[in-house]
Amino acid sequence: MTQSGTDLKGKCMALRRSLLRWFGREARDLPWRRTRDPYYIWLSEIMLQQTRVEAVIPYYERFVKSFPTVQDLAGASEDAVLKAWEGLGYYSRARNLHKAAKVIIREHGGVLPTTAEQWRQLPGIGAYTAGAIASIAGGLAEPAVDGNVLRVLSRIFGIRESIDEPATKERIWSIAATLLPRRQAGAFNQALMDLGARICIPGRPRCMECPVSRWCEAYRLGIQDTLPVRRAKKAIPHYDIVVAAIRRGGRYLIGRRPVGGLLGGLWEFPGGKIEPGETHEQALVREVEEETGLAVRVGEGIALVEHAYSHFAVTLHVYACEAAAGRAAARFHEALKWVRRGELEKYAFPAANRRFLGKLR
Ligand code: SF4
Repeated sequence: MTQSGTDLKGKCMALRRSLLRWFGREARDLPWRRTRDPYYIWLSEIMLQQTRVEAVIPYYERFVKSFPTVQDLAGASEDAVLKAWEGLGYYSRARNLHKAAKVIIREHGGVLPTTAEQWRQLPGIGAYTAGAIASIAGGLAEPAVDGNVLRVLSRIFGIRESIDEPATKERIWSIAATLLPRRQAGAFNQALMDLGARICIPGRPRCMECPVSRWCEAYRLGIQDTLPVRRAKKAIPHYDIVVAAIRRGGRYLIGRRPVGGLLGGLWEFPGGKIEPGETHEQALVREVEEETGLAVRVGEGIALVEHAYSHFAVTLHVYACEAAAGRAAARFHEALKWVRRGELEKYAFPAANRRFLGKLR
């Protein structure tokens, strides 16, 4: 920042006023904004990590119906929690939410934290989420800086250093703390988030509609499309995976992935990466034998699914298979189950598996 202390203070006050006025007029009516209950604010903040508001709304509504209190959440099975989360992705969020609910019941007598520091002690809650819950539910003057807010503030303050650098992040957190009004901190944090989601969007921001363009350094210099500066992203790897839909007596074999690993606790069909030089059939026979001990006959291909995770992408080649010999025993999964076609819907599957369930007979 090049401004003197007095200039900065003046800019902060004016910006704060304009942003809060805009938020008062334009705030989106979202289900979690109709409550100050910290449990619901917490749920919404966890669901909103890496996920668009529109996608979160139906999940949030179903989740609070299934687990209306932290006691209900703590008392539920992990399967039930993962099932309610199914399709929302980033499943470690659901597992941490569940773990944190148990900690609240076991160690805090069912009483939810009040300060950001207390929230941060719980699994799955980082500095942003702690600040967001403490300010929105508790009205505490805590900043909350996520990727959206990093973008918005780097533009308003014309920051040209990469926002991926810890020193830049620290600087933006400190700006956010300076900007924060002592009262209405929750509204202010939500206003910044809304501005980032609707006006100061990635790529081409909508500066002509922006309530704070008067105080925006990037807009003044005409460099808003070039900010924030990011470190170049590495290309993500891609894997070809074979998947076996093994049928025996009208039931399909599924396995529960080990808790603690990728997609832990979710159910899936056996299979794995195709090794160099292997045909799909060879890979299927090897993977199924390694994971379950079964020998299979490979039948027709039934689906091809492309799916991207945050750090890699996969193509699933799904085949109908018949169990030819052996007894299924879990060698990789926590458990294996033979499940009737009509009952598969009751299990929580990763999104890529769910996409071919409709193709099974
Ligand atoms: S003027 Fe443009 S770049 Fe600046 S905060 Fe508003 S939308 Fe973002």
